[in-house]
Amino acid sequence: MRQLFSELKPKNKKVKIKLIIFLCLLLFLPSAWLLIMRMEGSKPAVLLELPSQYIGLSTEYKGSVSDPGSGVRKLWIGLLKDGKEVVLKEEEFPSQSFISGGSVNDIPIQMKIEPRKLGIGDGKAIIRIAAWDYSWRNWWHGNRTYLEHEVIIDTKPPEIDILTKNHNISQGGAGLVIYRVSETDAKTGVVVGGNFFPGHSGYFKDGAVFMAFIALDHLQGTDTEIHVEAIDKAGNFVRAGFPYYLKKRSFKKDTISIPDQFLNWKMPEFDIADSRGRQLAGIEKFLAVNSTMRKENADLFASLTGKTGNNLYWKGSFLRLPKSATKSGFADRRSYRYKGKIVDHQYHMGIDLASTAHSSVPAANDGKVVFADVNGIYGKTVVLDHGFGLFSLYSHLSRIMVQKGEMVSRGNILGLTGTTGLAGGDHLHYGMMVQNVFINPLEWWDRSWIQNNITSKIQDIHNGY
Ligand SMILES: [Zn+2]
Repeated sequence: MRQLFSELKPKNKKVKIKLIIFLCLLLFLPSAWLLIMRMEGSKPAVLLELPSQYIGLSTEYKGSVSDPGSGVRKLWIGLLKDGKEVVLKEEEFPSQSFISGGSVNDIPIQMKIEPRKLGIGDGKAIIRIAAWDYSWRNWWHGNRTYLEHEVIIDTKPPEIDILTKNHNISQGGAGLVIYRVSETDAKTGVVVGGNFFPGHSGYFKDGAVFMAFIALDHLQGTDTEIHVEAIDKAGNFVRAGFPYYLKKRSFKKDTISIPDQFLNWKMPEFDIADSRGRQLAGIEKFLAVNSTMRKENADLFASLTGKTGNNLYWKGSFLRLPKSATKSGFADRRSYRYKGKIVDHQYHMGIDLASTAHSSVPAANDGKVVFADVNGIYGKTVVLDHGFGLFSLYSHLSRIMVQKGEMVSRGNILGLTGTTGLAGGDHLHYGMMVQNVFINPLEWWDRSWIQNNITSKIQDIHNGY
């Protein structure tokens, strides 16, 4: 028995030690694991989207704080200016439990800064952001992220001073507004109904003077509202009205017959299918070309006007195709007749000039070739940029003799008249645009109209205002 006991005892002791080690491990491992997890050292990620470096009268900020490791404990945002600090946001977030940490891992930031309401004046300032997490580091204060953003507070809207006096614009006609904006880096322009005409600086000695060529679309009424507007980098917006007079114009009505012979001649060069990909033919094809393609072609010309030279390339009146007769007028209301029935209505956005076949087409004025290619119903076309948003276009050419990017002078030959595109006979379709609005070329062929409405205004500014 004693022997047995003595044999058992050491064995029992070993078991006991093993048991104690096992129990210790059982307690220690999770504690060690917990300690490692809860002592994590990754800081909260803070993101603040700054719309620009400027804070205006009221500026919205968006952003986020996230801490996947321990959860977000606290967020603090302040605005520091001239040693004075205003707390914009201070928020603490709940903890789930001591063991598991914070209950929120992602917090969206959305706040509006209105410096005047906070009693903060204009000038340089600093946005300071601090965020803490629920890590046990730093004696349970958590990991801290700290960020600074330098900003400029500007709560004053720019001031607009209109320098031109008379603004008489006809339906389908153009005009010029010259004005001064107190902040030269403001985005500015003239709004005519739903159209925006950007103001361009850099022409006059005073860099704060802007020039905007404007147009009243042929479909806009004489009750159209016009004003200048400017928005600075801080988002401060201002509008200024000025006196103007809008003249009503009547446009000619015209009916065009479409014989089958014309369709057989013209339709093969167009490639147009319906929405199901079916190729169209005959009058059905003509109607698609005349509406859908016409719209696409005009949009292409409009897209060219997004970029314009920051210069007045042109001078004096614009040249009309020499020795030519006017065949169609600007904004003619056209009806199309096929087999005795009216099948379509469109507006004719240029003037058709006919001379002898294959006549040389001169540039109407100095400018830059921004398009020299085929454009659907317009056929072979050249578009000139005359600067500050004024363009002229020459369509249905049989030959193009200039290249895109080339500078041309008034009278330089651009190409020869022809019948390309939707032309039934040799002629030049001459069009003009201010930005993306087609305007009546008649005004620009008229020396006295240009003198009264454009040149004299520019001269007045040069002479001092
Ligand atoms: Zn035409």
